[in-house]
Amino acid sequence: MAEYKYETHLHTCQGSACGRLTGAEQADLYKGFGYTGIVVTDHFFNGNCAIPRDLPWRERVEQFCAGYRSAKKRGDEIGLQVFFGLETNFRGQEFLLYGLSEEWLKEQEDMLSWSPKEQFEKVTAAGGFVVQAHPYRTAPYIPEVIIYPDCCEAFELYNAHNAAEVNAQAVAYAKEHGIHGTGGTDAHGPVQPRGGMIFEKKWETIHDYIAAVRSGSGYRIITEFTEM
Ligand SMILES: [Zn+2]
Ligand SMILES: [Zn+2]
Repeated sequence: MAEYKYETHLHTCQGSACGRLTGAEQADLYKGFGYTGIVVTDHFFNGNCAIPRDLPWRERVEQFCAGYRSAKKRGDEIGLQVFFGLETNFRGQEFLLYGLSEEWLKEQEDMLSWSPKEQFEKVTAAGGFVVQAHPYRTAPYIPEVIIYPDCCEAFELYNAHNAAEVNAQAVAYAKEHGIHGTGGTDAHGPVQPRGGMIFEKKWETIHDYIAAVRSGSGYRIITEFTEM
């Protein structure tokens, strides 16, 4: 049976201050690794973003999407699917947002004042999907671990940057509470442990990903990470 491997959590140096590769470089890398597609999820303005703060909102969003556009252009040339996403940050707790558009972001000028709950309501109403990224991660940039099952539809259960015991905590919580999961690399640089998700069907749009995770079927999460 054919299988389709996707990266759901990836950064570029155009959008993320911690990114080390352009979108085009990431596309080349993932094509070489045999992935079918990637979702670019750069750190938004409330996270480790690479975009200057003093720009008008629409211009700031425009620049934020440069990493995605670079990956998409290259992906179209080499046969790698590229989708748009973003990663937001509330005092260290991060969320992956999928199914939104650049144009929609340009219209949300009050977005930085939203609470996680407001984010969940607005993104879901817009047809998007909220995943709490790497719950239980501890790091200098995370003052306090807070789990938000009421502000997302899924947890990122297997993040290739996390220690195995950190992912295990998220898996245990999700299992107990019936929360669906995703997996991703949190890709920043050229060589690192890689994860992602393997689907039975090729996505046509990002909504195929969202529908699969909502249903909890048609995919499996990569749970053991290969350094590449
Ligand atoms: Zn980062
Ligand atoms: Zn990330």
